[in-house]
Amino acid sequence: MDDLDRLHWLTQLLHGIEVGLVVIDRDYRVQLWNGFMENHSGIGAQQADQANLFSLFPELPDQWLKGKLEAAFLLESRAFTVWEQRPWVFPFSNSRPVTGELAQMHQNMTIQPLKDRNGLVSHAAIVLYDVSVQAQDRQQLSQANDSLARLSHQDTLTGLANRRLWHSLLEREFARCRRYQRDTTLLVLDLDHFKRINDHYGHSVGDAVLRQVGGMLGYQLRKGDVVARYGGEEFVMLLTETPHRNAQELADRLRQQLPTLRFDDAPDLSITGSIGICPYHPSLNSPEHWFELADQALYRAKRAGRDRILLADLPTETPV
Ligand code: GH3
Ligand code: MG
Ligand code: MG
Repeated sequence: MDDLDRLHWLTQLLHGIEVGLVVIDRDYRVQLWNGFMENHSGIGAQQADQANLFSLFPELPDQWLKGKLEAAFLLESRAFTVWEQRPWVFPFSNSRPVTGELAQMHQNMTIQPLKDRNGLVSHAAIVLYDVSVQAQDRQQLSQANDSLARLSHQDTLTGLANRRLWHSLLEREFARCRRYQRDTTLLVLDLDHFKRINDHYGHSVGDAVLRQVGGMLGYQLRKGDVVARYGGEEFVMLLTETPHRNAQELADRLRQQLPTLRFDDAPDLSITGSIGICPYHPSLNSPEHWFELADQALYRAKRAGRDRILLADLPTETPV
């Protein structure tokens, strides 16, 4: 068999290979356009022949791609780009049914300088790989990780932040208040006689109460405030830029709203709650200390008869 046969085979292979192949000259005129490029662009090899690549595809990132091509021409070295940097170079749609979720074909690309018979770089080859499957896998993995991260921070019953996230948010807010002397107030709300509600109406009504209270708190607070379910029927809140007088007003609004909540499966049920309040103060020595003072105020509110709000005992003098 002679070299011409081999060349003929090679030409067929390159035409049919599942990789995009484009050869351009120094004026970016197309010299070779294989089957992959025809199929995905809808532009036939004849139409592409001698056309300027950037006129064929006005969507190409021309500055960026020209930079890469010029580097290949001048430095005579290969260049490689990956989809993580730039998801695609050629605007092809993603044709693979298994990866149907990605609208665009994701691509890796190699640029290879081509030498003529005198050893001079006169052309460059663009080799395009369809990596949509890998990109899709990666995207699904990161979506799974995101939802795991969300789950590990979210209370499943109410959708509020859970105790774990609360601890880190409290720590962050404590540090912010300490550094910038901010007026943030911490609230702890505990529903009154919740055990009786469970005992009398059943656990699922108890759950509905928690969901509704959680929803009401989420609705009442401002963006930038924090509300979390600390556990059981205890909710915690950080009201940012809210001196304790304003926090007390809000707490009282919340307290008054609780008995107005209505529950489908327990029409006669009316609930109340008790709230402990502790504004940030420079004498607090840790986030735990802050929380403990609010919790003590809550405990006193319970002992004083429930359905009320009490302010934490704060030291009167500010330490240096
Ligand atoms: P107090 O007024 O002193 O707060 O009394 P209480 O009955 O609310 O307090 P206690 O801490 O004795 O009871 C809390 C109850 O909350 C006990 C527990 O069964 C119930 N509980 C905790 N988590 C859940 C939950 O996720 N769903 C339901 N339905 N009940 C819960
Ligand atoms: Mg309770
Ligand atoms: Mg409790």
